[in-house]
Amino acid sequence: MFADIILPLPLDGLFTYSVPQQLENRVKEGMRVLVPFGKNKTYVGVISKIHNQSPEGFQTKDILQAIGISPVLLPHQFEFWQWIADYYMSPIGEVYKAALPAGLKAEDGYKAKTELYIRLTEPFRNEQALHVALNMLQRAGKQLKCFVDYLSISHWGQGEGIELTRDELLNQGHSLPTINALVKRGVLETYEQEVGRLNLTGDPHPEKIKPLSSVQQDAFNQIRFSFLKKNVTLLHGVTSSGKTEIYIHLIQRALEEKKQVLYLLPEIALTVQMMERLHRVFGNRLGIYHSKYSDAERVEIWQKQLSQNPYDVILGARSAIFLPFQHLGLVIIDEEHETSYKQQDPMPRYHARSAAIMLAQMFKAKTLLGTATPSLETYHNAKVGKYGLVELFQRYQGIELPEIQVIDIKDLQHRKMMKGPFSPILLRKVHEALDHGEQVILFQNRRGYAPMIECKQCGWVPHCQHCDVSLTLHRNLNQLTCHYCGYTYQVPTQCPNCGCTQLQTRGYGTEKIEAEVHDIFPEARIARMDLDTTRSRQAYERIINDFSAGRTNLLIGTQMISKGLDFDKVSVVGILNADTMLNYPDFRAYEHAFMMMAQVSGRAGRKGKRGLVILQTKSPDIPVIQQVVNNDYASFYRSLIAERRHFHYPPYYRLVEVYLKHRSESVVEMAGLELASRLCQWFGTRVLGPDKPAVAKVKSLAIRKLVLKFEQGINMSEVRKYLALAQQLMLQDKRYASLQIYYDVDPL
Ligand code: ADP
Ligand code: ZN
Ligand code: ZN
Repeated sequence: MFADIILPLPLDGLFTYSVPQQLENRVKEGMRVLVPFGKNKTYVGVISKIHNQSPEGFQTKDILQAIGISPVLLPHQFEFWQWIADYYMSPIGEVYKAALPAGLKAEDGYKAKTELYIRLTEPFRNEQALHVALNMLQRAGKQLKCFVDYLSISHWGQGEGIELTRDELLNQGHSLPTINALVKRGVLETYEQEVGRLNLTGDPHPEKIKPLSSVQQDAFNQIRFSFLKKNVTLLHGVTSSGKTEIYIHLIQRALEEKKQVLYLLPEIALTVQMMERLHRVFGNRLGIYHSKYSDAERVEIWQKQLSQNPYDVILGARSAIFLPFQHLGLVIIDEEHETSYKQQDPMPRYHARSAAIMLAQMFKAKTLLGTATPSLETYHNAKVGKYGLVELFQRYQGIELPEIQVIDIKDLQHRKMMKGPFSPILLRKVHEALDHGEQVILFQNRRGYAPMIECKQCGWVPHCQHCDVSLTLHRNLNQLTCHYCGYTYQVPTQCPNCGCTQLQTRGYGTEKIEAEVHDIFPEARIARMDLDTTRSRQAYERIINDFSAGRTNLLIGTQMISKGLDFDKVSVVGILNADTMLNYPDFRAYEHAFMMMAQVSGRAGRKGKRGLVILQTKSPDIPVIQQVVNNDYASFYRSLIAERRHFHYPPYYRLVEVYLKHRSESVVEMAGLELASRLCQWFGTRVLGPDKPAVAKVKSLAIRKLVLKFEQGINMSEVRKYLALAQQLMLQDKRYASLQIYYDVDPL
């Protein structure tokens, strides 16, 4: 008896092992087994197939042991993994690594992941003792500041307070020695707690489902009707039109038909608000699955989905497509335009939207894509009739979409009227809003303090030693950081080039915006939401909760703030600089910029009052800005799709990017040319490049990139065979022994 096994290795194909006699009755397809590999390694693999064909040409090794007593994968999952591996040109072993929670890939089960928390020690948990502590710290400035921050962030003394991780405190710019000193003094103590256990309980309450308005009901009926003919339907509904309420009705219908539902959201939009909305209605029939939860919990959900009594509704981020489903009937992909549905690194570089549609098809289930700003691909598919299309142009209860005012900052700069990154009108509107007790959101799509620093005298700019990029200044941490490899550097006190000590910052990151807003509006209660302030799930939720409860009234953030947040009192949204998005050197720049601006604008004026968006740009006259102002998706789509057709881009053409990486610049250069010329023989003018990408070195590896453009109708599985062959021929060459070649199919 033999078994073909998937191993967690970046290698193509399955590995055949022999099944020792004592295991013959135990092993089943889908079960995990421990197998030897190479000289002295062992791996946990999954049995894909059991058969009795002895492989030719090599001696099989025995399976060492079986893990668990039942399969962890259902038959459709093998098919699904294989589809991802083929389509995205990634070894199946990489799909395995991405798909299974770590606990199922380890030999000896999982270990709960814990985080270190920080709290007041028992003796200091009262007002009086706190005063003593504060007095005691008067002479220790750093500790005092850290302690005060702890008290304020944890909302000490206000109700139950908030549990705080040590990392969160570190993220406020305090150092470990400072925190340790406070622990040593006996005011603070650390304790460990398991990461993110959720355990949703409680009975479902379908009676709490909100009745739909008549336009919503109409959309609901259209979707149901569309599903009679189409497998995939797009719900294009403006922000706040009640798409989520419609989803809830559709989910309830699916449950009544005894089907399971997968509800996908981009990771960052999976807020507590959203979970609570679904939990209120579906109770313990709802399971949640995403990367911020502990591995233990993910294993638990996985096992439950295999059991007799699985969750009927799974709300999750992109990795939830890998869960075992037993009778999937509906997949909802909310915010379908979100680029974070595409996994960038590591392999497999899959798009969860495409993969989920595929998954649904395997179950003959229906897929609903929902968004206020459809991706060009999806809208195109709807327009040509491949997908059904349902549109909702009204906000719930007829609340108006915000007014968008475009401000020409180039002109204002000429007239010296800009105050740093702010136009006078933006400042005035922010002022008014704060005076009226309303809230403000300022959007700047750059984190850190300043995107770069430069020498005032000679223009020298510090670069990463390992990557081909300039370094971002993080002033709170007082360091320069490479956003590509994460390497940090000390801020130089003088220019190594000319010795000048005047180093100035250039550009604005969210941190600098925060500092300037603080100077201009000292009374504002400011919060900042970007990658740096939201390293933990708690921090992320705290910022959202504080803002939605009105504890903060001015929120500064990167694109994170545009995601599915429902705030009541935001009357002004400022987009500080649209140009950084528009000038991005990529054919999707306008598409992304439009969506970002439209989504951010959608945060303004949700209930009771029409919101105002101040959109600052140096190019107020370009069409995309006007399309945002008029909320004119249709004309945005028409102009962009014409361009795509003309210049041979998706959705008319399929793109495959081929990346080559090597430590040596000259080797990668040569390899790029050689691969291109080989591919040209087969694909002709469909091959572009090799080119140096905008960032041509990352983590000390030099990079070259080829772009392949294929017209619709070309047999992609044939193309993949040619690419695999080309890769094989290259890697046989000794010069290219350590060359990395990988693909990005349908890149974003
Ligand atoms: P979208 O998902 O389109 O952005 P939501 O579903 O979040 O819109 O709706 C916006 C707000 O309006 C939410 O607070 C939601 O609860 C409320 N809402 C929408 N439709 C209804 C309805 N039919 N009954 C009651 N409240 C509704
Ligand atoms: Zn200099
Ligand atoms: Zn770097």
